[in-house]
Amino acid sequence: MSVKRKVAILGATGAVGQRFIQLLQGHPWFEIEVLAASERSAGKKYKDACNWLMETELPKEIAEMPVANADVKSVEQVGDVDLVFSSLPGDLAGPVEAEFGALYPVFSKASAHRMDKDVPLLIPEINPEHAEMVKVQQKLRGWKGFITTDPNCSTIQLAISLKPLMQFGLKQIIVSTMQALSGAGYPGVASLDIIDNVVPFISGEEEKLEAEALKILGSFDGRMVKNADFQLSASCNRVHVKDGHLESVFIKLEQDPSIEEIEAAFANFKGEPQKLKLPSAPINPIVVRHEKNRPQPRFDRDAGCGMSVVVGRIRKDPIMTFKYMCLGHNTVRGAAGGGILSAELYVSKGLA
Ligand code: NAP
Repeated sequence: MSVKRKVAILGATGAVGQRFIQLLQGHPWFEIEVLAASERSAGKKYKDACNWLMETELPKEIAEMPVANADVKSVEQVGDVDLVFSSLPGDLAGPVEAEFGALYPVFSKASAHRMDKDVPLLIPEINPEHAEMVKVQQKLRGWKGFITTDPNCSTIQLAISLKPLMQFGLKQIIVSTMQALSGAGYPGVASLDIIDNVVPFISGEEEKLEAEALKILGSFDGRMVKNADFQLSASCNRVHVKDGHLESVFIKLEQDPSIEEIEAAFANFKGEPQKLKLPSAPINPIVVRHEKNRPQPRFDRDAGCGMSVVVGRIRKDPIMTFKYMCLGHNTVRGAAGGGILSAELYVSKGLA
């Protein structure tokens, strides 16, 4: 790809927006053209609008860029971009992404449009064929652009780990999450609520996990998605960890594969991004750890540059068929990295 595509980031000052900026540095296909956030930030230089929290330095040219206002009226002012990444708050994302989607390909991290019948809920390794649904959407809505969405961060890692288990007949899943603080955005959970504590409630999270996995792992008939027919029950907790969601997963299968067969299914799993060698694709979408006490957020969240899901403690269960632990980096694979990989897939398919 000789000329890089110009991208806008809506919600550029937040936890996910910052990760987009970090991951897009030196990207071979995309370059940042527009940064937009709330009217609190609009008109300021990026360095004055945002409290930069990434481990790497704020790039100099980004620091000096002006921040635009990300609202329904700003679409005309954005001008010359090829695609849009949106990490806006869910309630706001609905109308703003619709304005942008009429003109541009919009890659959304927000929940607003995930369950729309004509909007893909995409994980490039899992359901790349769902990307074709944007053609249905463009026809129905009369749009030049489109909206495509990524799942919730806790759903992405779970769905990736479920895909290779489909061959054994997936019947029931029970998942309990331990979710990192950065998943709540910035400034997120008040320090006095979470220090020395676990909060056993994340608003809307269990409902998202239970609904989204069925759509992602469902089948696309060229017009709409028929949900997968397994059952899923989720229980979500916020824990005192900076990045990386850990999940305890219990699985009931139709078949009774050995632990070795399950490990091999995880370890050998590859998807279209690996075949296409997309720039952000990890070599292994799933990494299997064999130590008794892994995966752990601090040690394993950066596997595959934060794009691999790490599973471990795979063992038989006296009630269900088997159980395991599953870890993913919520702002990389679960957010900005996943969004960039989706955009790479659409570009490589000639859809964006
Ligand atoms: P965040 O840290 O709170 O950032 C929110 C961003 O939206 C900021 O840039 C903020 O700009 C902007 N914004 C807020 N109100 C606005 C308004 N009225 N008009 C225009 N822009 C506005 O949140 P986040 O964690 O980055 O999450 C962003 C989205 O990604 C959410 O929909 C979230 O559910 C989703 N998501 C998050 C994660 C994660 O791990 N954090 C993972 C997957 C999906 P200002 O700085 O100017 O206020």
